[in-house]
Amino acid sequence: METSPAARRLATRFVAGETLDDALAVGRRLNAEGITITLDCLGESVTSLEEAARARDVYLDTLEAMRQAGIEPNVSLKLTQFGLDLSADACRENVGQLVRRASEIGGFVRIDMESSEYVDRTLELVHDLHARYGAVGTVIQAYLYRSRKDVEKLCDQQTRVRLCKGAYLEPQTVAFPKKTQVDENYTEIAKLLLERGTYPAIATHDEKMIEAAKAFAASRKLARGAFEFQMLYGIRRDLQRQLVADGYRLRLYVPFGRAWYPYYMRRLAERPANVIFVLKNLFRR
Ligand SMILES: Cc1cc2nc3c(=O)[nH]c(=O)nc-3n(C[C@H](O)[C@H](O)[C@H](O)COP(=O)(O)OP(=O)(O)OC[C@H]3O[C@@H](n4cnc5c(N)ncnc54)[C@H](O)[C@@H]3O)c2cc1C
Repeated sequence: METSPAARRLATRFVAGETLDDALAVGRRLNAEGITITLDCLGESVTSLEEAARARDVYLDTLEAMRQAGIEPNVSLKLTQFGLDLSADACRENVGQLVRRASEIGGFVRIDMESSEYVDRTLELVHDLHARYGAVGTVIQAYLYRSRKDVEKLCDQQTRVRLCKGAYLEPQTVAFPKKTQVDENYTEIAKLLLERGTYPAIATHDEKMIEAAKAFAASRKLARGAFEFQMLYGIRRDLQRQLVADGYRLRLYVPFGRAWYPYYMRRLAERPANVIFVLKNLFRR
């Protein structure tokens, strides 16, 4: 699929393209529609510190290019791409350079959350860099039992949180096994964030979660600019347009880069209908 032109074309539904210019073009188009973005320079976990340094440089270039293009410099990254599995110190140094640059240019760095074994290390690094530079926030996954406590601490530290349901396969020892439990925890944590958090991001495509957040914000008379919704580029575009039309803030997570294939496969796997759509189109002349 990676080399098939048809597959590449279909992937542009979820991925902005292979180059930074592709990502900036998508960013400009979305900004014109009233949607902000965070860019994810795709890459999986690295196997050498040289690769980690390269990832850092790609992200530094991305921040700078966004600024020059008049797009708010906002990026999302994974610590394993910055060398966390190889050296915690090197990872901190790499991410620190990026966050420092973001704070100098009025930008922002979001540290995505990976599987549960990384949560402590991620929160610790975010805490340290936030105290030094600001301009950094993280992600909390509603499927983890621990998340409510983590969010309380992050609220106290005034660190920005993106709340999502969680995308990794986790054992019952650490995560709620049932979707209904995850959804319930999501709604409760969203309320906590809306009440006590610093510019929280409600990241979901689930209409029930979105409606609950809207209702709670209205009941507390929160200004629509006090929080934002976030969604993945290409998913539930109908809902995206509706939120913007209703005057809510919306940021899209826009991935780009040559390593688009694993990201694309994950989005397809989340929903069988996506696979059927792709197969139909691949064989259409
Ligand atoms: C901005 C953003 C950032 C994220 N960052 C992280 C992160 O750092 N760490 C992490 O673990 N997870 C992250 N996620 C992923 C998240 O944890 C979920 O796996 C993902 O968002 C699906 O959950 P949902 O809230 O949309 O609800 P679900 O209950 O999974 O889905 C609700 C509805 O959304 C639609 N939908 C969901 N996924 C798809 C799809 N692939 N294709 C088409 N329709 C779909 C369907 O209509 C579905 O019924 C992020 C998600 C977003 C939106």
